[in-house]
Amino acid sequence: MLDNERLQAELIDIRAVLFERIAAVNMQLAKTRSANVHELSQSEENNENLEAALLAAQRELRQLNHALQRIYDKTYHLCEYCGANIDAKRLGALPYTSMCNKCALHQ
Ligand SMILES: [Zn+2]
Repeated sequence: MLDNERLQAELIDIRAVLFERIAAVNMQLAKTRSANVHELSQSEENNENLEAALLAAQRELRQLNHALQRIYDKTYHLCEYCGANIDAKRLGALPYTSMCNKCALHQ
């Protein structure tokens, strides 16, 4: 389906951006880890922010890969929990969701 192809291309673009972000954060982390003792307290705080950013990017990447897999499997529009169709508006707002409105409410 054309719509899915466009969505797939969009998700792959987002994934490339995420990969770059993760690589950049990893590089920053490596840099602050090798910072000298005088900068330690500052770099520790910086490290926490970087690690939080890294975790967020990795979580987004997992959700994105899952959404891509669902597109390949042609189950993207189906709720993983009840099998119902997920509202197109909901998917537009939350492209990584695998749950219909009803199941999301009961979570
Ligand atoms: Zn459902």
